[in-house]
Amino acid sequence: MPVDAVVFDCDGVLIDNISSWWAIHEYFGTRNEEMLEKFLNKEITEEEFVNHDVEEWKKVQSKIHMDDIMRCYSGVKLMPGAREVIKELQSKGIFVAIVSSGVDLLIGTIANMLKVDDWAANGFEWDEDGYLIKGAPTKVYSHDKGIMVEKLIRINNLKSKNVISVGDSSTDLSMKVGESKFIGFNPARERAVEEFEKARVSIVYNRDLRDLWPIMFDGEILK
Ligand SMILES: [Mg+2]
Repeated sequence: MPVDAVVFDCDGVLIDNISSWWAIHEYFGTRNEEMLEKFLNKEITEEEFVNHDVEEWKKVQSKIHMDDIMRCYSGVKLMPGAREVIKELQSKGIFVAIVSSGVDLLIGTIANMLKVDDWAANGFEWDEDGYLIKGAPTKVYSHDKGIMVEKLIRINNLKSKNVISVGDSSTDLSMKVGESKFIGFNPARERAVEEFEKARVSIVYNRDLRDLWPIMFDGEILK
């Protein structure tokens, strides 16, 4: 089966972290489990969720600079195999993209580091001095990441059946558009395992992206 494009989620997939949003909460000592649960149950919108987060952070520190947010990501590491897999995919002429509902400051840095062909993520509005105003309008909807995957398919003239998406969350299943495929990688929560099993997609439990290779390329091994 030919592969024309691979679309990766970023948090917990290309990078070995929990979430680019959660890292900011850790930095400011705030919590958002309750809102996260509401968001996962679709009781609040993406924008309500982000702006609630921003309000919580501003209670701790009233003026938050872009550099403060970047500092939250100082310890972030790539997932084992990330460079190798992306390099090898691109050497085969395969289009590689990141579709993440994470924070663009981090996701953009990773996209540049890995030299992917295209990427999309969410972020914030900043004032002219680089201070945080609020969440930016949502570009990548967590519950409907397929909108962005479809856009990539359209603008790059791809066939959906030759596209593979890779994600670690139950919401990443929304990346599976048309006849495209999906591989669950390093499932984030029990909820992800359940949803992946229900959707009958392949799951890689090992935290090494090279283990995707035999699934994508009929048993071929990438060293
Ligand atoms: Mg993720």
